[in-house]
Amino acid sequence: GQRQRLLVVANRLPVSAKKTGENWSLKMSPGGLVSGLLGVTAQLDTKWVGWPGVDVNNEVEKAALSKSLAEVKCIPVFLDEVFDQYYNGYCNGILWPILHHMELPQEDPHDTNKTFQTQYDAYKKANRMFLDVIVENYEEGDIVWCHDYHLMFLPKYLKEYNNNIKVGWFLHSPFPSSEVYKTLPSRSELLRSILRADLLGFHTYDFAGHFKSTCTRILGVEATHEGVVDQGRVTRVAVFPIGIDPDRFIRTCKLPEATQQINELKERFAGKKVILGVDRLDPIKGIPKKYLAFEKFLEENPNWRHKVVLVQIAVPTRNDVPEYRKLKDQVHGLVGRINGRFGSVSSLPIHHLDCSVDFSYLCALYAIADVMLVTSLRDGMNLVSFEFVACQEAKKGVLVLSESAGAAQSLGAGALLVNPWNVTEVSSAIKEALIMPAEEREKRYRVNFQYVYIHSAKKWGDDFMSVLDDTMAESEMQL
Ligand code: UDP
Repeated sequence: GQRQRLLVVANRLPVSAKKTGENWSLKMSPGGLVSGLLGVTAQLDTKWVGWPGVDVNNEVEKAALSKSLAEVKCIPVFLDEVFDQYYNGYCNGILWPILHHMELPQEDPHDTNKTFQTQYDAYKKANRMFLDVIVENYEEGDIVWCHDYHLMFLPKYLKEYNNNIKVGWFLHSPFPSSEVYKTLPSRSELLRSILRADLLGFHTYDFAGHFKSTCTRILGVEATHEGVVDQGRVTRVAVFPIGIDPDRFIRTCKLPEATQQINELKERFAGKKVILGVDRLDPIKGIPKKYLAFEKFLEENPNWRHKVVLVQIAVPTRNDVPEYRKLKDQVHGLVGRINGRFGSVSSLPIHHLDCSVDFSYLCALYAIADVMLVTSLRDGMNLVSFEFVACQEAKKGVLVLSESAGAAQSLGAGALLVNPWNVTEVSSAIKEALIMPAEEREKRYRVNFQYVYIHSAKKWGDDFMSVLDDTMAESEMQL
């Protein structure tokens, strides 16, 4: 028979589009989501729905881009003028901080364009625009899998359109405790809307637990082992920790390009231990705390001062949100102070880079690092920690991992877990990692590698789809 059709809906399409002359050139960007669905895609007839990442303002251009995207099974949602208020405003300015246990930024009552209400309206409007595109492409029996906090209204809109659509929703960020979530002005409406889905997925038991108790406290509904029950209707809630495509990293480390980069980096840092950080420059990643901990380590361990470097890739992100610009200045201030205090003409303790690096170089950095330092104050999963493990076959370095990253619930046995708020504890963990005996490093590496290899992105995608299938089968039996 025909293959089951799947529509994967996410804010961003998994391609980057670039105009070259008359035509659009497209490049797949293989994050966790894409790798996760590669396996699923082989069995299902999958199409992607999302914002193409570029502004296109006339119909002829839109048609041309849509045509190119169709060839890679992508369907664009052109968000035009709602984009700023929806994405920078509501998604990144309001939902992101709340979901990550941070305070809401102050609302400016004089700027009527930027009140919670106008941003919330834009958010709903954007979700409707996603719905419209789905409706145009929907065929009876399709499964619609919605991704992340950008699309919390979509389950409700989809079920209002057609109550028989099979709807899954996965949250890639943490879900906060109800005490934090309840500060969100639109708290109930958002919860009720995602509860219309058939299956809700989270990275960890903690996040799923927070979600369920938030539903009971704010909506007064019942939470069970299965999920959330509202007037007899069950919304299944389950845990699916995402992973990476480990083979892609292992393979890349062995290619000539990476091998050469590995050799160059080894030479560059000969005689020194390398601590690596790879994060978007986001307040949730705890980069200032990381620098304070490293400063304390250098302060208290003078013998290490010229024997260790911290290489921090700080990938630029969300430059349109004021908080992020402030963070950049703060971090640069810290780097200047620490390099000024502990550097010499021939060596600097921190190499801070405001840029992204290409894939091969990233793998080379992961491969040569002695210690990977992840200090997220709050993080959905943190794939960087998985990627490091995948590239460490030769080195068997140590992962220092924040207990507040979702990954801590997966890699907790092999990593050194730290409370990222405790600068003293992180500083001690740096030392422990640097002096750890080879035997123990090897043991911890094996535990981590085993986990990363088995719990791949592909497994994540397959597991979600299979539970969604079961959920649908059960509800059909009840009818
Ligand atoms: N990454 C990248 N370019 C870089 C550095 C990192 O694309 O210069 C990737 C990295 O490989 C990882 C992702 O960015 O897959 C970061 O994912 P993570 O889950 O760690 O954090 P997020 O950025 O999603 O909060």
